[in-house]
This record gives sequence, C-alpha cells and structure tokens, in this order.
Amino acid sequence: MAAHGAADSRHLIEVKVAPGKGLGLFAQADIPRGTRIIAEAALLGKNVDYTAKDVVKEFRSLSPTLQSQYLGLHGCMPEDVKGQIELELGQKLENLSALHRKVFAIYAANAIGRIIYLHGSLFNHSCIPNVHFAYNSTLGMETFHAVRDILEGEELTVSYINGIILTRSQRQEALERWGFLCACPACADTEEARKADVKRAQMFDLDQQLAIYFRREHWERFRKLAQKQAALQRSVGFSGGELSSTYAKIAWACQQLGDRGMELLWACKILDIDLHCLGPDHPDCEWLEEQVPKVAAVIENQAAVDDSGVNQ
Ligand SMILES: [Zn+2]
Repeated sequence: MAAHGAADSRHLIEVKVAPGKGLGLFAQADIPRGTRIIAEAALLGKNVDYTAKDVVKEFRSLSPTLQSQYLGLHGCMPEDVKGQIELELGQKLENLSALHRKVFAIYAANAIGRIIYLHGSLFNHSCIPNVHFAYNSTLGMETFHAVRDILEGEELTVSYINGIILTRSQRQEALERWGFLCACPACADTEEARKADVKRAQMFDLDQQLAIYFRREHWERFRKLAQKQAALQRSVGFSGGELSSTYAKIAWACQQLGDRGMELLWACKILDIDLHCLGPDHPDCEWLEEQVPKVAAVIENQAAVDDSGVNQ
C-alpha cells in the first residue's frame, strides 16, 4: 500500500483540462492499486443539521484563497435541487446576488450528500471508476483510493451514482442532474460496452432474486446467486466496494450454512478489497482484521475436536 494513515498521495495527481468535461484529475505517475490518493476534511457541510441556509454562511467563513478555489469548481443547478434549496432558504434563487447564486450552483454540482470536498469535487464521473471514495470516521475525512493500478496520464474517476446494475440509458437518466452525457468506456458505442450492458441487466435481475432468497433464508441458493453476481461484477471491470459488498453476502451465506472454512476464505477476500479501497485505518477494516482470526480459531478448534474424535 503506497500511503498509510491520513497521509495521502496527492503529489501523484494533477489538475488538467479533461476534453469535453472541464477540469479533471490525472495521474502524473503510475499509481498502484490501494494508493490513498486523497484524504480530506469537508470544506463545507461540517454540521450534521446542514441546510442551504448554512452554505453562504460557511462560504463566507472560508479564507480568501479557499473561497477562490471553491469558486473555481464547476457549477450547475438542476430543477429538483433548485426547488429543495429554495425551500430550505425560504426564497427564490433569482433574488440572490450573482455571487451567491454561483456559490449554490457549485454546491448543487459538487456536494457528496451535503458535503463539499475541495479536491474530491474535481473527480469526473465514470460508470467504471478507477477510484473509490468513502468516509473514514476515525480520520473524520473522506478518502479516495485507487481500486486498480492506474497508469501515468490516465484520468482518475469516481462514480457519481450507484449505477452498477443500471443499463446505459438508466445511468444517463440518473446522471441528468449533472447536465452531461457520459462518454466513459462503459457508455461508448462499442460491442464490448453493449455486452457489458446486458450483464448489468442480468445483475439487476440477480439483485432482485438475492433479495427474495434472503427473505426466504434459502442460503444455498443465495450463495450461488451471489457468487454469480460477483463473477458478473468482475467481468465488467468492478474490483472495488461493490464487489466487496457482494463478497460479504457470500460470506454471510457461508456462515448461515455453517461452512466456516468458506466463510473465512470470503472474509479474507473482503478484507483484501477493503484494505485497498478504504485503507487499514478504516473502522470496517479494523473490524474485519479482528474477525478473521476469530473465524480461523473456530475452524482450528473444530478441526481439533474432529481429530480427537478420529483418534478415539
Ligand atoms: Zn458512463
């Protein structure tokens, strides 16, 4: 792993013009899988009960340098977000100054939940992202990790939507609020992208079936379907948090089936992905690192009991 703790590797990236997308983040050198590219605290939106009323207040409290960096971010104002902001403000955006309208447009385009991250906001979207972002409550920061090896010159991307099981047109619909037409490799007009879209539709069906078998507590079937789901995810290029969530379903099914050996194997696979996507200091990784030896100990004890049974 290239970086540990709150330290990050932002020296490996640079801000450049991304053709057709405004600014973007690019690798200045090869970036290995698992590298913590950025770890940063919120610029705006630190309060839990944050509403649109706090946006301008917080913006004004920033240093002139941070204000100018904030104003350099891309802005847009989708109708539904506009309605929500006006509701929270209790007035029309048209009645605000041009500066404050710009502050809100940037907020609308860049907030993750209700939080703005200065560097994190510069990632463009891809439907097969090479960067995974997550909140690390131990650090009080959002972290961005490389989910695969990234080559020098490649653009670094995150997914703005939860679109793994959506087809191209469904993803485009979900991306409408950002006002761009996605041209990532998954959305390109190629045979490979069309085949991947068929697989994403299959993933959607599998997702529905998994929910049914989970409710029925039919763990053998649930495990088989989840394994199929994981294989499909890997085949369309997902190696990050989505895959880890599917592995967690498989591990859960193994536990329910009393197959502790397979549960351990899948738990190790989850830990490997999470260490690369979240970092060793993330609470999920710390929890898993405690759990894995416990499951291993249960298996060892079980083996000892079985052996003693054989010897008698
Ligand atoms: Zn796309």
